[in-house]
Amino acid sequence: MSKTVAEPKSGRAPREPEPAAGLVPGKAVYFFGDGRAEGNARMRDLLGGKGAGLAEMMNAGVPVPPGYTITTEACRLFFESGGRLPGSVAREEDAMLARLERLLGRRLGDPENPLLLSVRSGAPVSMPGMMDTILNLGLNSATVEGLATKTRSARFAFDSYRRFVQMFSDVVLGVPRARLEAELTAAKKKARAKADVELDEKTLRALVRRLLSVVREETGQDFPEDARVQLAQARDAVFRSWHTDRAEHYRRLNGIPDTFGTAVNVQAMVFGNLGARSATGVGFTRDPSTGEPRFYGEYLMNAQGEDVVAGIRTPHPIAQMERELPEAFAELKAITERLERHYRDVQDFEFTIEEGRLFMLQTRRAARTGIAALRIAVDMVDEGLLSKREALERVEPDQLDQVLHPVLDSTARKRHARLAKGLPASPGAAAGAIVFTSEEAVERGRKERVILVRAETSPDDIAGMHAAAGILTATGGMTSHAAVVARGMGKCCVAGCTELQIDEAKRTLKIAGRMFREGTFLSLDGSTGEVLEGDVPTTDSEVVRVLTGRLKPTQAPLFERFERLMAWCDEVRRLRVRANADVPRDAQIARSLGAEGIGLCRTEHMFFAADRIPHVVTMILNAKEARQARLRIARIEEELAGASASERPGLKQELARAKKEGGASMRDFDGALAKLLPLQRADFKGLFLAMEGTPVTIRTLDPPLHEFLPKREHLLAELQGLRRSAKADPRRQQIERTLARVEELHEFNPMLGFRGCRLGILHPEITRMQARAIFEAAAQVAKSGLPVRPEIMIPLVGDKEELRRQRAEVETVAQDVMRRLQTTIPYTIGTMIEIPRAAVLADEIAAHADFFSFGTNDLTQMTFGFSRDDCGRFLPEYVDAGILPGDPFVSLDTRGVGVLIQRACFAGRRAKPGLKIGVCGEHGGDPASIAFFEQTGLDYVSCSPFRVPVARLAAARAALSRT
Ligand code: PEP
Ligand code: MG
Repeated sequence: MSKTVAEPKSGRAPREPEPAAGLVPGKAVYFFGDGRAEGNARMRDLLGGKGAGLAEMMNAGVPVPPGYTITTEACRLFFESGGRLPGSVAREEDAMLARLERLLGRRLGDPENPLLLSVRSGAPVSMPGMMDTILNLGLNSATVEGLATKTRSARFAFDSYRRFVQMFSDVVLGVPRARLEAELTAAKKKARAKADVELDEKTLRALVRRLLSVVREETGQDFPEDARVQLAQARDAVFRSWHTDRAEHYRRLNGIPDTFGTAVNVQAMVFGNLGARSATGVGFTRDPSTGEPRFYGEYLMNAQGEDVVAGIRTPHPIAQMERELPEAFAELKAITERLERHYRDVQDFEFTIEEGRLFMLQTRRAARTGIAALRIAVDMVDEGLLSKREALERVEPDQLDQVLHPVLDSTARKRHARLAKGLPASPGAAAGAIVFTSEEAVERGRKERVILVRAETSPDDIAGMHAAAGILTATGGMTSHAAVVARGMGKCCVAGCTELQIDEAKRTLKIAGRMFREGTFLSLDGSTGEVLEGDVPTTDSEVVRVLTGRLKPTQAPLFERFERLMAWCDEVRRLRVRANADVPRDAQIARSLGAEGIGLCRTEHMFFAADRIPHVVTMILNAKEARQARLRIARIEEELAGASASERPGLKQELARAKKEGGASMRDFDGALAKLLPLQRADFKGLFLAMEGTPVTIRTLDPPLHEFLPKREHLLAELQGLRRSAKADPRRQQIERTLARVEELHEFNPMLGFRGCRLGILHPEITRMQARAIFEAAAQVAKSGLPVRPEIMIPLVGDKEELRRQRAEVETVAQDVMRRLQTTIPYTIGTMIEIPRAAVLADEIAAHADFFSFGTNDLTQMTFGFSRDDCGRFLPEYVDAGILPGDPFVSLDTRGVGVLIQRACFAGRRAKPGLKIGVCGEHGGDPASIAFFEQTGLDYVSCSPFRVPVARLAAARAALSRT
């Protein structure tokens, strides 16, 4: 090797490589060979990840087979021209091919000395296995003989030819893969061979003849003999593979834009199947499951690359190669270590050893699990490879979810038989009903947890893998399709579990003589590779166990790294992070995960508890009558005050009657509130204590009332049973009364109905009861010496008058409680901004608010006019069809809802400088939305407790991206 990969200087974090130097406007094909490349690592968008990586390796003196990359720009031109490469690009390609032929002294299609090529896809963002590849291109009836003579192995030449015909026919000519595979299986059966490598030259010659005639039968045409035609067709097929269903599905899942396109890499073939000193393999510079710093990979002797990734033969661990091919092993280790230092990131590499000589075919940033990402980022800071800031950029916020993922319960698992052990391909735990096809996983996965069981997954299984809770495969190693994709999805996977005997047709799985039918429950431990019988319960992760005091931090290295990364986040982020929590247990978890307050306590959730439902029902059943009675009494009293002497006796009688008639419902209503008061007080006290003096935002009641009442159908059924009982039967009367209320409260659009502050406006007694519970609880906690900071939040405000009235109710109660209990509680009163009108009139509303909190769930619902509960029927189709870029309830619609938020912030702060503003809808835990909130200048985001670490990291990254 003439050059070495640049090593970073020690002592400080190294810099990114210089910006793209090789970019030439209008150039569509970039060459690499003879130790020099026209492209470089910064040209990912144009050359794709693979092309940029090959160029960078070539420039750094790494042994790479020469070739050229056709750009992603050419891919776009290809589609714009209706699936044809413009002539100018084709001519550029011809020139590059000629250059390659000159460099190697071999020519494509030359029967004497044939050049063979690989043609591979390579998008700017890695899409493992999603697009097509063709190997051994250039073989035909003449060149195969030339190859046989040159390599002195006719068997090798015909094995390569067989592979080429099979691949090309499938990918380019569209011949059904199963038909081609059936020919191979039949040939093996006839030759009594178990594996492909056992097929001799004669069998392979006959097999190629059979495959060629299958092509004729299926397509009505001969397999192309002309190597140039083969190349043009293969290149176009690789471009077209950008738009296969599976590639499009993968892009949707991973948010990769369709406009990127793929590059095509054409490279001279090197052969890992040239005999006992040849091999091929893949590897990682660190363990992609755990992040452990160990050289890690798999290889196969005398094989081609696709044999390793396709999981057809189970490969050997790379350590074994040290014995079989020691020199190549040492070189591989040295090169990949340097590559890792050069890129300052873990590399996923592919290599081939041709008769003892090492070639690197690819290097790229390794996909990794959340646990590995965390470990690698923190370790690399300790190793001086990364700055803390860069470490934060290396962990995707959503990956932290995996660190908090449950694992199989260690006690419960002892009661479940261990059936088999495979490779721990992707950590986590999963239990579910077994299914054998991707389609079934999607179908059944809608109703229950499923485990997808496959011999080996292929890119066609993506949808099923996504729908499954876990993945179990029989063949394939740690770098097989199943393993790589599952890790990327953060999904538990056990791969290469050789004890499985799968019968897909009969939908059965046999393990150690035992039969399991489709639908049987199995459990997977993705961290050990174990497969267990039944539905093993899961338990909290290491991090959660430490946080809840069940594990010592010193025994939890993952926790230590997690804490360090979180501390780095807190050094740089501006946005505060709070949690949505309604009960003390959730509040404690949120606090231990770093929540700096509660941003939303939904008090209606507290009302659902078993000890309160009867009181809530009584309250609802009597609310309307009690209100009418009160209004009536107030009206008569008013009349009485201004009445003449002659009118007074009549009015007095009327007043007595009103009090008598309304007495029962007023008593019941007030009685129910009195019962709820101490329960709510205890709830709030628990929250204040758990939050240790940080702010606690409590929202007044916001439920559609009918949700608390029994279901109409149930009442009707019960009434039917009581049909014969006397009209005066108290049970019958009670049911009839409840039924009447249920029918009265029925709403056609409950989400736009009697919700939010509308309830407190009509029944201010409810707001008063809640305010009293809050302030009495706060006073109790404050008296014990702990600080408390209640923030009372009024929901679903659309007009300033609503807020003004509710605020007045709360303030009256607050003053009353503080006077009575002789204490001072610092508090604020604010509002949700979740109705578009409130966002539009934010300046008016701000006059009555100490803070705003955007309820982006309702704001999205009402801005789009999409029902939160019903849009599942059409929204996925909208996203699939590209009408919307994604589900706006998951990631904020910055163009519509986002603009309302920006304007409300601006208007609110103009009316009241320094107004505190946060968000408490689901978007408060979504990294993309958090970036928007950072830009908009919000003060805090609030999300569910387990999203708090995700939000801390997302907030830190958002802050960094602005510097
Ligand atoms: C919201 O609408 O965003 C919100 C937080 O309130 P809820 O989800 O309770 O309606
Ligand atoms: Mg809401």
